[in-house]
Amino acid sequence: MAGRVWILLACLGIILAGCSVGQTAVPTQLPTVAVLPTEVAQQPTLLPTATFAPLPATQTAVPTSTTLPTVTPVLSEATAVPQPTATFAAYGVAQTIGTSVNGRPIESYRFGFGSQTIVLVGGIHGGYEWNTIILAYNMIDYFLANPDQIPANISLYIIPSANPDGQYVVTGVDGRFTPADVSGDIRPGRFNGNQVDLNRNWACDWQAEGLWGDTVVSGGAVPFSEPETAALRTFFLREQPAAVLFWHSKADGIFVGSCDGTFQPSAEIAEIYGRASGYTVYSEFSAYPITGDASDWLATQNIPSFTVELKTRNGTDWEMNLDGVLALLDFYGR
Ligand SMILES: [Zn+2]
Repeated sequence: MAGRVWILLACLGIILAGCSVGQTAVPTQLPTVAVLPTEVAQQPTLLPTATFAPLPATQTAVPTSTTLPTVTPVLSEATAVPQPTATFAAYGVAQTIGTSVNGRPIESYRFGFGSQTIVLVGGIHGGYEWNTIILAYNMIDYFLANPDQIPANISLYIIPSANPDGQYVVTGVDGRFTPADVSGDIRPGRFNGNQVDLNRNWACDWQAEGLWGDTVVSGGAVPFSEPETAALRTFFLREQPAAVLFWHSKADGIFVGSCDGTFQPSAEIAEIYGRASGYTVYSEFSAYPITGDASDWLATQNIPSFTVELKTRNGTDWEMNLDGVLALLDFYGR
């Protein structure tokens, strides 16, 4: 090592002396190589990656737009850890978290990059509960226009349509739709492409045959047999949310996620949402036995969760749910 230093010093001496050897022996790139490490050392965190290059300046005026997916980079699951930048933080980050039986993407939209994760899920019962999907998209639009409502320590994920095959059956549309797109008998839209009820396919009190009122429905061959529920499970286990909310319709109330007994963390946040929104909070859904429920399974994973049943089949109860979501953000935010 010392020998190399002496050689370097000797060469430096030669260069400084203007030795003619320097014209051929010193690489022409030497000055550049000497400068680069200094630049890198000064701004190591600002080097953009190929995946998360800053959005072009022309896109910074978009928060009032309702066309979220076209202005945000769509990320594959393999690139699902965004690097926060000032520009990025102001926008929803869309990513595909899985694929339905018939190959439709299940999209998630992220707001904020905090360590506390809150997840809002619409449409697990597909087109049969299409108003929950509209509500979720409305919520996405709200946080696009009001990114300052996301506390610094929060990551808010909104999955607007957890059962896109069921949505398509009723609307004939992938992605965003309007109530005018809804037609025909909406009941078949409850199920996925395998005719499974996705909220009977989770591993809490699971049975192959579940109930929907008096109707027997398929809970799948085994828990998480369906690609939609498997994708959601993977997402939840990876993100370890502080809270998860599922929107359904139309039982008009909040139902606490718990598996065979009370899970107090779920009850606590359900009460917070209930007080802010005005929905009545129920410890469990008692109209008929529920098997394989998503919110109940989350309790087995120590993840607080609850279900919000909208009042009607076609309204969004917008103000109530916005107040509830903002209360959750306030509870977890700092
Ligand atoms: Zn439902």
